Amino acid sequence: MSRPIKIKVPKRDRVLCGAKTRRNTSCLRKALPNGRCLNHGGKSTGPKTKAGRARIAAAQRERHARRRRARSWSRFDELLQLWLA
Ligand SMILES: [Zn+2]
Repeated sequence: MSRPIKIKVPKRDRVLCGAKTRRNTSCLRKALPNGRCLNHGGKSTGPKTKAGRARIAAAQRERHARRRRARSWSRFDELLQLWLA
């Protein structure tokens, strides 16, 4: 796993997160050096390493293949139903 590059930002210079909380106030937590707060990290930044990217790509190909198989079978079923009717 590759580590994100750390840029030192003095705590007093960090901006507040500002996300809306359940109490309808804004999050007062200071953002991390990457601009995200620990509570509201947001979406994953995705796979970074070559191995990680390859793993995700393989999983996606598998997913698409499964979907294609499912679709072609459902079409076959449709035709079969029409033929039998
Ligand atoms: Zn926050």
